Amino acid sequence: MFIKRIGIDLGTTNTLIFIPNKGVVIFEPTIVAYDLNDDRILAVGHEAKEMIGRTPDDIGAYRPLKDGVIADYKTTKAMLKYFISKTLGSFNFFKPIVIISGPAGITSTERRAVINATYEAGAREVYLVREPILAALGAGIPINSASGHMLVNIGGGTSEVAVISLGGIVSWASLRIAGNKFDEAIAEYVKKKCNLAIGEQTAEKIKIEIGLALPQKNRLETEVRGRDLDTGLPKSVIMNSNEVAEAITGNLEEISETIRSVFSNTPPELAADIIEKGIVISGGSALLRNIDEFISKVTGVNSYIAEDPLYCVAKGTGIILEHLDTYKRAVMSKK
Ligand code: ADP
Ligand code: MG
Repeated sequence: MFIKRIGIDLGTTNTLIFIPNKGVVIFEPTIVAYDLNDDRILAVGHEAKEMIGRTPDDIGAYRPLKDGVIADYKTTKAMLKYFISKTLGSFNFFKPIVIISGPAGITSTERRAVINATYEAGAREVYLVREPILAALGAGIPINSASGHMLVNIGGGTSEVAVISLGGIVSWASLRIAGNKFDEAIAEYVKKKCNLAIGEQTAEKIKIEIGLALPQKNRLETEVRGRDLDTGLPKSVIMNSNEVAEAITGNLEEISETIRSVFSNTPPELAADIIEKGIVISGGSALLRNIDEFISKVTGVNSYIAEDPLYCVAKGTGIILEHLDTYKRAVMSKK
């Protein structure tokens, strides 16, 4: 069977590709590694991520997206081309129709860049859909209903808060604080408290292993290895989950502040709907332990984690691909 339609979740941290009737076929870090001597691409995705922090001087590993939008056009295009051809295989002669995600606040220039890069990467038709709409669809929210729904998508680079009704975004806000900032805060905390330098990937590992949003009686612990800042030698310390919560509390507070600001810009009828149905949380950072409790606590509104939060945006592209007519309002222009 030839593949004629694909959906792409172009995230700052991860890129996913969805094919109708098949599901997610690609889930790789949004990273490209170059040989700096001749500008040749050495690796894309998982393989390139392995190289971060370990590269010799003549290899550079880059994240071509920043805060949800393209920061490096050429690299993004090359990465998309690689992922699209990997998806299609070598015997697919059709150029696919592509639905691709963009942040809620994408400007027209940024939108053109995403769309052009996708055309140049081998698409026949490209439609951009804003991420909160895709995440909501992927989370199973009936976005076309005349009722308000709140979606909080916490990814790696950005968090977006949106109220959706009748297939469109009624109010929204985004902030550049999400999983990557949590990692930085954890590294900073370990540096200050334990005098230990750790890398970005170690910090992320700690977060995934024992991280939580709200301190708990039962603590989880993990061993953290890094470099002692005084002696310069390797050292390991034990860190517990409540310390992780303490490290990221400032970041979480800013996210909750943004949720409150979106509520204050939401018409009262829709706010009442949200109180009744609750807030839905998606994105990779929705997997942080008890983040739902945290958001329920700070907003006073019941909050739920979507099923497979890392896949919501990708699944949303699949739903739009299958029902382009139903979701016309959600789809932005082709050009
Ligand atoms: P983006 O949309 O920016 O590409 P994703 O939605 O793919 O981001 O989420 C990536 C973020 O999710 C990363 O910061 C990653 O560390 C975080 N993440 C993934 N799994 C977990 C987990 N189990 N606990 C906490 N954070 C997680
Ligand atoms: Mg995302």
